[in-house]
Amino acid sequence: MSAAVLSIGSNVGDRLAYLRGCVELLGDAVLAASPVYSTAPWGGATRDDFLNAVLLVEDRDADAWEWLRRGQCCEAAARRARGLRWGPRTLDVDVIDVIDEERIRQDDPRLTLPHPRAHQRAFVLVPWLDIAPHAVLAGRGTVAELLAALPAAERRSVHRRDDLRLRSL
Ligand code: ATP
Ligand code: CA
Ligand code: CA
Repeated sequence: MSAAVLSIGSNVGDRLAYLRGCVELLGDAVLAASPVYSTAPWGGATRDDFLNAVLLVEDRDADAWEWLRRGQCCEAAARRARGLRWGPRTLDVDVIDVIDEERIRQDDPRLTLPHPRAHQRAFVLVPWLDIAPHAVLAGRGTVAELLAALPAAERRSVHRRDDLRLRSL
């Protein structure tokens, strides 16, 4: 049994449809889906804004590697092509944090946990806080504290899009 926090993002084509397709593929494992945010691109490599969201997922048969695998399946279903790092992509699924009896901490470059850059990213912290107000990023602090510590420009880079929803209510 494990629970995970996944960050999903898209900045090419029908961005909302790609995010929704991912939620659909993850199916019953999705316990909570955050509001959708639009975010100016990170790393300066692209033109279009990202749409980003965070999912809380749980499955008794999944370990940390299985969450990576399922995320990659979703990316493949969105026909993600690998180009520039942080460049345009139909779907990016990052595993932010996994709890499997205890919280997983590992340095493997194929799956580093918790995600090593999550604490710097408003587009991860803001939607995560929406659905888990007391969340903690292992070794870093509470999500609320991490968000408060970000540069104001980073916090201002995410905009909640109440006109867009990951699933119909
Ligand atoms: P970033 O990780 O900074 O958001 P990115 O999402 O653009 O960058 P990708 O090209 O999607 O990076 O992934 C590169 C590799 O990162 C993948 O092949 C994957 O094995 C590895 N990886 C390591 N840790 C993680 C993690 N926590 N979640 C997802 N992928 C990870
Ligand atoms: Ca990413
Ligand atoms: Ca990724």
